[in-house]
Amino acid sequence: MNTSIIVEPYTPIPNRLTVPVDSLDETVASYVKKHAVRWIYKRRVEYSSEAARTDEDQQQNTRKRQRLHPEIWYKEYTCHMAGEKRIRDQDTGKNGKPKEIQKKSKKQGCLAKLKAIVYKADPTNVVLITETEQNHIIGSLEDLQYLPLSDDAKALIETRLREGYRKRETRFANQQSNFRAPSSLIVHRDQMVHAEDVQNIYKKIQEAAYIRHPNVQESIKIWLNEELQEMRFYTYIDASFSTTFSFGFVSPWQARLLVVSTCICLDATHCVANVENGILYTIVVRHPLTGTGCPVANFYTNDHSMVPSGTFYCSFETLLA
Ligand SMILES: [Zn+2]
Repeated sequence: MNTSIIVEPYTPIPNRLTVPVDSLDETVASYVKKHAVRWIYKRRVEYSSEAARTDEDQQQNTRKRQRLHPEIWYKEYTCHMAGEKRIRDQDTGKNGKPKEIQKKSKKQGCLAKLKAIVYKADPTNVVLITETEQNHIIGSLEDLQYLPLSDDAKALIETRLREGYRKRETRFANQQSNFRAPSSLIVHRDQMVHAEDVQNIYKKIQEAAYIRHPNVQESIKIWLNEELQEMRFYTYIDASFSTTFSFGFVSPWQARLLVVSTCICLDATHCVANVENGILYTIVVRHPLTGTGCPVANFYTNDHSMVPSGTFYCSFETLLA
């Protein structure tokens, strides 16, 4: 496992590069790390179908075409800074208020292109040719802010996060020791790990950790019926679950406290999930040892009638039995 990566300064974009056809995608992706350019795939042009035609009348034409096109196919990519530069709208909106200032755009109208060509003379290799100069200074600080982190850097951050680093620590660690450059100058995008970079990767890890099924209700059911029950939780899914999202759960130690409590409080928290009108009810009791409030049962619903939550509380009978 990688514990650090050495950041090498960017090198100029090669004008012409020959690599095996199998490694084309990997090579194109590697420009981000090596040359500070991200290529966006645009199209693939095929010549082989034309050449395969054997129609007698067309044979001569085909031969002519084959001579004209020494390629079998090519793929075309454009610079990620291609596209129209967005001009800030100076007009005023309907109410005479100035329109919101648009987000800074990376579009610079760059016309640079990468063409990956497979020639009939050498079908196992692909030749990468860059066309037209970039209209921005590759690798400059201004340019780097629009470039993504390299895949290696992302993988390293992910490893660090999985090891249980807190987000802030990860950023710190990345900057301090993991990305070593030959000098103290900023020479590579991977030396500038932003909070958003870490946040995005963290979100992916988190989602993978709690999403059990693409359907949110199926996901909740799996969590309650399989995982929590295995941990000896008391779980409850209301008959109206498909429309009201009503479900509840009580851990084994919470159940023990709940059973011995004589006085309880009901606490409601809004906006704990993106279900519309969802409320998380928590039954809170005074903890016999600490004397402070302690949650002992959790119930979620978007039904404000209290009917599903009433059913949930009634179902505690099985706990008390
Ligand atoms: Zn460009």
